[in-house]
Amino acid sequence: MTLLDLSSTQFFATADGRDLATDATFDVINPSTGHVFAQAPAVTPEQLDGVFAAAQRAYRDWKRDDALRRTVLLAAAAAVEGAVGELAPILVAEQGKPLADARGEIFAAGAWLRYFAELDVPREIIRDDAERFEEVYRRPLGVVSAITPWNFPITLAMWKIAPALRAGNTIVVKPSPYTPLTTLALARVLRGVLPDGVLSVVTGPDPLGAALVSHPIPRKVSFTGSTPVGKRVAVAAAEDLKRVTLELGGNDPAIILRDADVESVAASLFWSAFGNNGQICLAVKRVYAHEDVQPALVEALGELARSARVDDGMVEGAQLGPLNNKPQFERIKGLVSDAVDGGARVVSGGHAIDRPGYFYAPTILDNVDDSFRVVREEQFGPVLPVMAFRDEDEAIERANNSEYGLTASVWSADAAHAAAIASEIDSGQVSINGHGGGVKMHLPFGGHKWSGLGVENGPWGLASFTEIQVISGPSRLR
Ligand code: NAP
Repeated sequence: MTLLDLSSTQFFATADGRDLATDATFDVINPSTGHVFAQAPAVTPEQLDGVFAAAQRAYRDWKRDDALRRTVLLAAAAAVEGAVGELAPILVAEQGKPLADARGEIFAAGAWLRYFAELDVPREIIRDDAERFEEVYRRPLGVVSAITPWNFPITLAMWKIAPALRAGNTIVVKPSPYTPLTTLALARVLRGVLPDGVLSVVTGPDPLGAALVSHPIPRKVSFTGSTPVGKRVAVAAAEDLKRVTLELGGNDPAIILRDADVESVAASLFWSAFGNNGQICLAVKRVYAHEDVQPALVEALGELARSARVDDGMVEGAQLGPLNNKPQFERIKGLVSDAVDGGARVVSGGHAIDRPGYFYAPTILDNVDDSFRVVREEQFGPVLPVMAFRDEDEAIERANNSEYGLTASVWSADAAHAAAIASEIDSGQVSINGHGGGVKMHLPFGGHKWSGLGVENGPWGLASFTEIQVISGPSRLR
C-alpha cells in the first residue's frame, strides 16, 4: 500500500491564473483512516470580488475566438490525461474510492474536454435571401459559478467546465470541502494551458457556496448536490434571475420482471447499486423484483455483497472504499438500524467494519416495504433494500411514488416489453437490462421532479451555458 503524504504540500486556490493567498486553511480528512492528511485554502466570501472580476476580464477575449477555444480545450484534455498519475492518488486520499476508479474519473475528464472541443456551438440561419436575413445564435452567458459535491469531484466539475468554456463563458468552481484537493490540483495542471482567469477554483467551508450564488457577477449557477441545498440555490439565484442548472438527489428504482434471469442480472445490478460505495446520484437505491424471482435475487445479491472487497482505495484489488465522510457514515448506520428496528432481515452486512476510517459492510436488506426510511429517502451509501411486487402496474406505481426522478432501470428477457414499461417511469433516464447506460457525454443527463432542473452533457448541456440571440436585418446579399 502506498499512502500519499500530502501533509507538507501546499494547495492554493487559482484565480486569474495565479495562486490566491488565504489567511486560513481547513482540514481535509482521508476517509480510509479518519485522520487529517492535508490542508486546503479557506477562501473567504470577500475574496470572491477579485476572483469574479478576473473571470469577467478574461471573458472579454475568451468569448470572441471560437477556434482558439477548440484548440485550447484539446490542449487541456491532453494536460489532464498527462496528469492522471498525479491527480488520481489525491482523489483516492480525499474521496476514498479505489485507485482504478479514480484514474477512470480523471481520464473521463479528458474525454469530456475533447468531446466538447469538437462540438459546434449552433448557429442557425433561418432566412438569408434577397430581402432579409435572420439568424439565431447561441451566445455565452458570461461568468459561471459551478458548485460540486464530494462523490465525483472531477467528473461533475468537468460536466460544467468543458461545456461552459466551449460556449465562451469563464467559470469559477467551488468543490465540496470534503474533497477540495483534486479540483485545486486540476486547476494547477491547467494553468498556462487555459488563459488566465478562464478557470478559477476556490475552496472553503460554508458560506462560500452561498456567496458564489449571491455574487453579482456570475450570470449562471451550475449546481450538483443535494435536493435541499439545490432548492436554496434556486431561491437565491432567482433574486438576480441568474440561470440555473440543478443536478440533485435521486432515489432510483430498478424493476426486475418475472422473466429476468437472476444469475445474469445480479452482478450488474449489484455494481449499479454499490459502485463508488452507493455514493452515486444515479445508483440503484431500491429494487422491486417480481415475487417469483425476489427470493433468489436477494440471496444472489447477498453473496455478491459478502464477496466484495472493501479496503483502502490504494490497496491493490480494493473494489469498494470507505464512505466519504463521518456524517454520511453515521447516516448509513442510522438508516440500517432504523430498518432493522422495523423488522428488516439483514441478508449481508448491516454493520460498520471494525477498523479506522468510515468503512461499512455492503448491506442487502430483505423484508422491507416502501414505508421504511431506507426506501423513502436517498441513502447514498452501501445499503440496498430488495422488495417484491406482484404485478407490473404495482411496480410502476411504487417506482414512481417518490419525490425524486433521476434515473431508473427495467430488467427482463424481453427488451421491448421492458422498454414499454420504461416509458411509464417518471425519470430523466431509464435503462433496460443495465442501469445508468445513458450516462454518456453525448446524451442529456438530468432529473425530473426533485432530482433537478435542466440537463448536462451533449448539445443540450452545451446549450444550457448559452443564451439565445436573434440577429436580423435587411438582405446581406446586396
Ligand atoms: P450538498 O450538501 O448539497 O453540497 C453540494 C455542494 O453545495 C457543496 O460544495 C456544498 O458546500 C455546497 N453548498 C452548501 N450549501 C450551499 C448553499 N446554500 N449555496 C450554494 N452552495 C452550497 O451535497 P453533497 O452532500 O456534497 O452531495 C451529495 C448529494 O449530491 C446527493 O444528494 C447526491 O444525490 C447529489 N448528487 C447529484 C448528482 C446529479 O447529477 N444529479 C450527482 C452527484 C451527486 P459546503 O459543504 O461548504 O456547504
